[in-house]
Amino acid sequence: MSIQSGAALCISIDLELMWGRWDRIDASSIRLAEQAERPIVRRLLELAERYDIPMTWAVVGRVFDDAPGFENPPGPRKAWFAPELVEEIQNSPVAHDIGSHSHGHVYFDELGDAEASLDLERDLELRKRWGIPMRSWVFPCNKIGHLDKLVKAGVEVYRTHDAGWLGWVRNHVPRLYPVGNLLDKMLPITPSLVEAQATSFDGYRAVALPSSTLLLARNGLRRLALVSVSKRRWLHALEDAATQQKVFHAWFHPSNFYFDADTQFSILEDAFRDAAQKRDSGVLRISTMADFAESAS
Ligand SMILES: [Zn+2]
Repeated sequence: MSIQSGAALCISIDLELMWGRWDRIDASSIRLAEQAERPIVRRLLELAERYDIPMTWAVVGRVFDDAPGFENPPGPRKAWFAPELVEEIQNSPVAHDIGSHSHGHVYFDELGDAEASLDLERDLELRKRWGIPMRSWVFPCNKIGHLDKLVKAGVEVYRTHDAGWLGWVRNHVPRLYPVGNLLDKMLPITPSLVEAQATSFDGYRAVALPSSTLLLARNGLRRLALVSVSKRRWLHALEDAATQQKVFHAWFHPSNFYFDADTQFSILEDAFRDAAQKRDSGVLRISTMADFAESAS
């Protein structure tokens, strides 16, 4: 078996509600998570259904964990818990992949062995109850750590970092990353394409899949990114993926759609329409992260 190669579009969505901001809680984030998250997730599911685009939903376990014992977080429960959204993803006619974004949105690069194991165990238990395998994994804040534990727990594919110059900035001059990220999205730079990479830990094998680009939110300075530039970046990336036989792996959170959602959806829909045409003419695959697992090839 070999890793899936060739031209592909892969979309991964980090679904976390307020767990993604448990250490940076503020009233407006709580309000948006409570009120804006569900309609956006449902619209994403509808769009995926319209163009038959399966995606990886990397879900924070606590979003759908109804087991007792968790503290009562501040604000309305709807800002933190949404098991019904996970059910809707499961019940979609599109074969989405429900990956993990950890159980408690904890930072794996800072965790001790016992804490990392506990987070993984809780998520595995939860997924057993729901009948959802943990094949793909996205690290909270893309902070990578305890890879060996992940892979031994059964994770087959994990997302690494954005490829290209921005990934270099992130790894070498992290304080410049926010401004670099903004510039990257404003300029007509085609996102870097990626390839899946086989890795192994103590005899356990997994696939590392870098990402190409984030769909940046449209609030504050980020509104300066022209819609036409954003659309062109994605369409060029799809074209390049098809001609270079590589993967365009885009990612975002539903919260990246909180502001100017119609514009964000129009960027995504243009890309989906183009990707679906390319798929139908046989030059591009639409793959979830789990599709890159060695066992899926
Ligand atoms: Zn996250």
